[in-house]
Amino acid sequence: MDLVQLIYVSRLSPDCDAESLKKILDSSRKNNRKLGITGILCRDKRFFLQCLEGSRAAVNHLYATIIADKRHSDVIILCYREIVRREFGAWSMAFVSAKKVDKVLTLQYSSTPELDPYAMPGQASHDFLVDLANSWKGDLEA
Ligand code: FAD
Repeated sequence: MDLVQLIYVSRLSPDCDAESLKKILDSSRKNNRKLGITGILCRDKRFFLQCLEGSRAAVNHLYATIIADKRHSDVIILCYREIVRREFGAWSMAFVSAKKVDKVLTLQYSSTPELDPYAMPGQASHDFLVDLANSWKGDLEA
């Protein structure tokens, strides 16, 4: 068993608009199904927070592709670990806009009203994404 989970944060490029996001999600869902990768992507006006799950090789190769993508920058790994089961296995890439994130949930994981994933411990970034997936379960595009 070589299942791993990787969580990273990055800053949106100034020209990363709604059309760019649609292309990213289209590519993600098309490619991830073939690669056996699942996960969740949260987008705020300032950052992307993404979790990738899959085989060690598939996750590492995809991460190398993602960090070279000019639609974002300052890509930092928050958490990388081996897992025994997937937590986002229902989604080739679930998506949640941070606009939809409940203020109470944000405050659970943040010392300020604005979430800053760069300042979050890896475990907190993981727990935040799990809570997000649970609260938006019915409404996460696969
Ligand atoms: P295609 O799907 O064939 O490309 C589709 C369209 O996107 C084309 O119009 C192409 O011009 C455009 N495009 C592709 N790459 C770029 C680029 N680097 N810059 C501008 N336009 C581009 N990919 C995944 O496969 N899985 C993921 O989970 C994933 N998550 C991502 C998360 C973030 C925050 C970002 C920024 C990117 C993510 N990507 C993901 C995209 C990844 O970086 C590659 O762009 C993608 O894997 C290329 O797929 P493809 O070769 O099949 O391109």
